Amino acid sequence: MSFSALGLSEPLLRAVSAWHYEAPTPIQTSAIPAILRGGDVWASAQTGSGKTAAFALPILQRLSLEQRPGGRFVRALILVPTRELAAQVGESIRKYARYLPSPLKTLVVYGGVSINPQMMALGGGADILVATPGRLLDLLDHNALSLSAVSILVLDEADRLLDLGFNDEFARIVALLPARRQSLLFSATFPPGVQSLATALLRDPVRLDVPTEPDTKPEILQRAIEVDPPRRTQLLLHLIAENAWLSVLVFVATKYSTEHVAEKLRRSGIESAALHGELSQGARTQALADFKAGAVRVLVATDLAARGIDIVRLPVVVNYDLPRSAVDYTHRIGRTGRAGETGVAISFISSGTHAHFAQMERLHALDLPREQIEGFEPVETEAPVSLVAPDGGGIKGHRKSKKDKLREAAALAAGGAAGGSAATPSSTPPSSAPPHGRFSNPPSQPLIDKTYSPRSAWPRLR
Ligand code: AMP
Repeated sequence: MSFSALGLSEPLLRAVSAWHYEAPTPIQTSAIPAILRGGDVWASAQTGSGKTAAFALPILQRLSLEQRPGGRFVRALILVPTRELAAQVGESIRKYARYLPSPLKTLVVYGGVSINPQMMALGGGADILVATPGRLLDLLDHNALSLSAVSILVLDEADRLLDLGFNDEFARIVALLPARRQSLLFSATFPPGVQSLATALLRDPVRLDVPTEPDTKPEILQRAIEVDPPRRTQLLLHLIAENAWLSVLVFVATKYSTEHVAEKLRRSGIESAALHGELSQGARTQALADFKAGAVRVLVATDLAARGIDIVRLPVVVNYDLPRSAVDYTHRIGRTGRAGETGVAISFISSGTHAHFAQMERLHALDLPREQIEGFEPVETEAPVSLVAPDGGGIKGHRKSKKDKLREAAALAAGGAAGGSAATPSSTPPSSAPPHGRFSNPPSQPLIDKTYSPRSAWPRLR
């Protein structure tokens, strides 16, 4: 299948060829004609599948056939969960629109930056507005725009939008849209919340559950390396040096850890930056730009900051701290191995987190061999104290904190059970837990051993 068979106009075909897209991805093959026909679409599309072009190209084509009404009107509204994704989607749209004979005005708005320039830019309306929900509502409250002429609505990464708690914002936004419109919903996963949203928003949608073709499936080599938590930074440094990685995205659990780990790496001579939700927008944009440009070798990020980021040719993702849920695992490792490239996703596992990791593996039908790196073999034996939630969500894998221990002691002294949270206490008392769990497994695997992990045997993401 070629792009020209999809019904796209010549200026858009020129743009995709300028970006060296040789053939449409599966989601593009099915979504582009469906969107051009004007109906509603509900598509399951993974990050890295080429979904932005799948909706941006037909939207550009449809809008370029009609006149903009003028005034403060917006014609196509694209709602995205994060600022980074908003910037990225806007950038993609501008690149695809480049050869259109009459330019389409595309604006990107998100919070964390001054609202005034956005209000000014919205004077005269926009053909396409890419927005995060909160800032869009602020702008609406300021009367900076009107949604009454929106003919196309896109919800990008709808599952993430709901995860971030944007339900109420949606309801307010949707109430301001005309009933007659085309609505497109893209989501990597379809939990019940997204299904209800789809039912409420879409009319008679074409449903696209695009199977990922083997040759376009992300090629991600997933590895699980056992290491004691205090030795993770040293191991990371070792892996970076040993593999000569030039660009590594490292995920940690907290904002503090992003700064702390980045600082430790910098002290060891590795250019590193932290990325988390409490940085100013300017600092976040700068950190990402430096990382993309190669000026920063390691980006240490929290989940929130890293959502939706598209970094071309990112070879390695490291779960320094494990993600809380199996869904977050998918999102994290999906940052590498994008659009047909290969990538490596490494998870550091300790005695305190191996049960949590095993649960995520079960949910993804994975069974990764546990590796140990010479010189970094774990010696800690403390048993995990936290339980894995059966639905795979919101799992914690930490050892008992001082506070937990004090609470337990107090509860014991009072003759009652300690805590009430999922994290404390374990139903398996530490004394009866196996001393090492999977850590007693032999043998150290060599760091890079092609025979040990042949490409054909790489576990694939589902
Ligand atoms: P997305 O899933 O929209 O975030 O896209 C992921 C990456 O794939 C982006 O870097 C796009 O530029 C790239 N991409 C999109 N469509 C194609 C295609 N047909 N061929 C090659 N790369 C593509």
